Amino acid sequence: NSVMEKILLRRSMQMCDQQQAWQESPEGCKMLEFRKTLPAYKEKDAILAAISQNQIVIISGATGCGKTTQVPQFILESEIESARGAVCNIICTQPRRISAISVSERIASERGEKLGECVGYKVRFEGVKGRDTHLLFCTTGILLRRLLVDRNLKGITHVIVDEIHERGMNEDFLLIVLKDLLPHRPELKLILMSATLDAELFSSYFDGAPILHIPGFTYPVQTRFLENILEMTGYRLTQCNQIDDYGQEKMWRIGKQAPRKRKSQIASSVEDALRTADFKDYSSQTQESLSCWNPDSIGFNLVEYLLCNICENERPGAVLVFMTGWDDISSLKDKLQAHPFLGDPSRVLLLTCHGSMASSEQRLIFDEPEDGVRKIVLATNIAETSITINDIVFVLDCGKAKESSYDALNNTPCLLPSWISKVSAQQRRGRAGRVQPGECYHLYPRCVYDAFAEYQLPEILRTPLQSLCLQIKSLKLGSISDFLSRALQSPELLAVQNAIEYLKIIGALDQNENLTVLGRYLTMLPVEPKLGKMLVLGAILNCLDPVLTVVASLSVRDPFLMPLDKKDLAEAAKSQFSGDYSDHLALVRAYEGWRDAERDLSGYEYCWKNFLSVQSMKAIDSLRKEFFSLLMDTGLVDGNPTTCNAWSHDEHLVRAVICGGLYPGICSIVHNEKSFSLKTMEDGQVLLHSNSVNARESKIPYPWLVFNEKIKVNTVFLRDSTAVSDSVLLLFGGSISKGDADGHLKMLGGYLEFYMQPYVEEMYQSLRRQLDELIQT
Ligand code: ADP
Ligand code: MG
Repeated sequence: NSVMEKILLRRSMQMCDQQQAWQESPEGCKMLEFRKTLPAYKEKDAILAAISQNQIVIISGATGCGKTTQVPQFILESEIESARGAVCNIICTQPRRISAISVSERIASERGEKLGECVGYKVRFEGVKGRDTHLLFCTTGILLRRLLVDRNLKGITHVIVDEIHERGMNEDFLLIVLKDLLPHRPELKLILMSATLDAELFSSYFDGAPILHIPGFTYPVQTRFLENILEMTGYRLTQCNQIDDYGQEKMWRIGKQAPRKRKSQIASSVEDALRTADFKDYSSQTQESLSCWNPDSIGFNLVEYLLCNICENERPGAVLVFMTGWDDISSLKDKLQAHPFLGDPSRVLLLTCHGSMASSEQRLIFDEPEDGVRKIVLATNIAETSITINDIVFVLDCGKAKESSYDALNNTPCLLPSWISKVSAQQRRGRAGRVQPGECYHLYPRCVYDAFAEYQLPEILRTPLQSLCLQIKSLKLGSISDFLSRALQSPELLAVQNAIEYLKIIGALDQNENLTVLGRYLTMLPVEPKLGKMLVLGAILNCLDPVLTVVASLSVRDPFLMPLDKKDLAEAAKSQFSGDYSDHLALVRAYEGWRDAERDLSGYEYCWKNFLSVQSMKAIDSLRKEFFSLLMDTGLVDGNPTTCNAWSHDEHLVRAVICGGLYPGICSIVHNEKSFSLKTMEDGQVLLHSNSVNARESKIPYPWLVFNEKIKVNTVFLRDSTAVSDSVLLLFGGSISKGDADGHLKMLGGYLEFYMQPYVEEMYQSLRRQLDELIQT
């Protein structure tokens, strides 16, 4: 043992010498000088003292002050200096994979090392980590997975949980687990880092843990809202009334103002587009009804106009554009690249920054462009706090972010672009004032901003808890509701019960809340349980290809484009893919058509002709590959495409698998003479969204529709749906396993009784007899 100690001591000394040599070299010296300018560096001693005196420390400080890159390094350096370098093991979690990668690269270069020496990272599907890695960045999900096999985090000396202000579900979950673990590991240190000042909540959760604040500094930022921006273009907001797809009134319209300013050529090129954009009256609206407004129709043109204006008339400085999501970013990028000025690489360096980009692309956003070239970065809310781009002077903020929300009362989940909070809007604005006074353009009216919530609700309170409940079970953390009652802010009991009930209905948990075989597979597939179940069914029933397409397309923006001015043509194009009474099968056809066209290098024309989004098709294509490799990991498919696709051509089977995944998202079809109406058990009468292929049918020769999503506006609307038969519903709805076939049938019976279809009752009885026999043999 003492030999081992000697080796470790020697190794620690070596690490110390290496760092000293680097810091004395010219580059190392320069790097250290830069680090010393960061506000966090001035607090180094205070931070280290607090950590050595307390088991838990909370550190807050404005974005860019050096929390993420410096605090883990301070700990590492101090351990190395005190000759414990070879025994310390620091784990720092990041909510997103891209920040785990970029931060670890940055720290390695600050230390004059290659990635995988002292510093490494690990995210799903990739990682760089060596024998001597003592500081590891990982996503929160990776640490949770590690806890699955290593409950006590053996050998770990420090856990740093970063970006806790975001209140992501995984982070809140991790905090419960760590809070339970700390008393059993008294020598383990926990450091929590936040970009906002509301650290008291965390302090009181951890019994008054000390809070250290790093003071920061930003330059003033000039702020404009939509009305101010429109004034620059010679337009203004005026009132009008109109009815949109959901029967909502829109009471704002952009109207032409008497021309006061001389407009540049570029401005007049977007005029037409601006003229047709509509706005709602926000002043009297609640947060909820705000979410049905869609800024995209105006957003792109306005962004293009503003970017041109900045490039033509403003002082040097990079531009950061906050967009709603990855799909928006790529459509806007295409649009800008086709622009004569903005698409010219000798004048504009156009970059993107979002969670799913490649790491090579990601490094570019930190580079300074050549003189005379304007850097423009299109980003998601990832650039709000987790990634700091140094030279930003102008910020454009579309005001939205993709977030999942959940209404426990109606048990209705939805993933929608929704308005950000005031705090987020301030963070976005703050990005403009880091290096000099800046400017921020909010692409929404002031009254919309005033209606924003102060903070965003923590994810655990606004999303369905199904995946979380599965994770609690797979980590063997005991009763789900007991565990969640120990959260920072506990979700409503009703939401917890709904999630457990749902998992029982789909057969992921048994009646005693234990994971079933299906449940165990679902914990291995990091997608929503319903999509996971569809994948599992598609794999074991050997009809994987179309099922991969359905699951992938449910995870991207609707590929069918419906431009307002060409709605008839677009609908006609879409109707070529219908005919199966299924939006999901229409998607499969559209994708397969694109895939064939792509082989002949005419994928683009195909999309153009059929009003399909090229981005969505490409996204579906790459997601399909990702899902396939996930299924390979679970062992459900062996990689042989012939076996797992033996039944892929069987449309009835695919319909059944869709039903198996979407159940209990079901509604009954009541036919009357000329048309039909729909009702669900929870909502009563519901309507189909006008874009659904089923909305154009006058008769559907099936008794049921299964659906992926319902949206409540005034009435409940179903988005994508697939018609299914009684027998498919009976066999694929819910879980039929030996153990709880009876429970399943009872529940189905409940549904059928509600819908009162006597002939179904008869069929149910006969199936029940068959099943009973099956179970007995
Ligand atoms: P915080 O976590 O407090 O928001 P960071 O530690 O991420 O701040 O960043 C501190 C500073 O380090 C940033 O303001 C930026 O100047 C610099 N920095 C961070 N990452 C990089 C990078 N990849 N390339 C260049 N500079 C970077
Ligand atoms: Mg940070």
